[in-house]
Amino acid sequence: MRIILMGPPGAGKGTQADFLTKELKIPHISTGEMFRKAVKENTPLGIEAKRYMDSGQLVPDAVTVGIVKERLAEADCQKGFLLDGFPRTVAQADALDVTLRELGVKLNQVINLLVGRDALLQRLTGRRVCKSCGATYHVLYNPSAAGQKCQLCQGELYQRSDDTEATVANRLDVYEQQTAPLVAYYEKKGLLLNIAGNETVEAIAENILKVLGSEQG
Ligand code: ADP
Ligand code: ADP
Ligand code: ZN
Repeated sequence: MRIILMGPPGAGKGTQADFLTKELKIPHISTGEMFRKAVKENTPLGIEAKRYMDSGQLVPDAVTVGIVKERLAEADCQKGFLLDGFPRTVAQADALDVTLRELGVKLNQVINLLVGRDALLQRLTGRRVCKSCGATYHVLYNPSAAGQKCQLCQGELYQRSDDTEATVANRLDVYEQQTAPLVAYYEKKGLLLNIAGNETVEAIAENILKVLGSEQG
């Protein structure tokens, strides 16, 4: 199964991807996670990416396409993969097309999570992430059972530096301008499945599995 999970920042891509990749036993490829790891490790990639991430801009296509291409060539991707947060521009989608053709594989489905702007703002500004294991929480909608600590590993919870109100508004604008055109792009290819993202985490997960199952026949 080769899937793209699309949707604006805060739509719940990471949350659903964690669930789906466990369920489907395929690797979870999040370009945002890859960049955050590089920033944490202070690698040349991280130093470059940070300049864009801090202001809510996209990292340049050439850089982003390069790391995804490398990742897709790894052995564990042969059984399938879920892309979370990539592609985010038409140029990235075209490059992905070429890469998949080189690998001799096809996408099965593009799942597009639909959530309104007000809800996105609330989700992003209330998001908290575990410093140790990366688990995602929300102060109101999905609080950790361990309070200020991660309920899975007791790690410290923090707010991403790009989840502040000012940067969030910019990221939503960048999404509208650069990423939203991909909805029509994948619709034209007959791959797009819209899923209401304003339901509970469990209901959304169930709906996604249902449509994936029926599309697979
Ligand atoms: P994305 O990866 O698309 O940016 P996340 O999965 O990180 O989104 O979710 C953004 C925030 O919204 C997180 O704090 C998460 O806990 C919360 N969240 C995710 N799904 C839902 C949902 N269905 N209802 C309410 N809050 C949600
Ligand atoms: P979100 O949870 O808001 O969807 P991500 O974790 O996917 O955010 O991405 C965080 C930041 O990493 C983005 O704002 C952007 O700067 C950078 N980034 C992630 N994926 C891409 C991509 N495909 N192209 C360019 N930049 C990206
Ligand atoms: Zn944790």
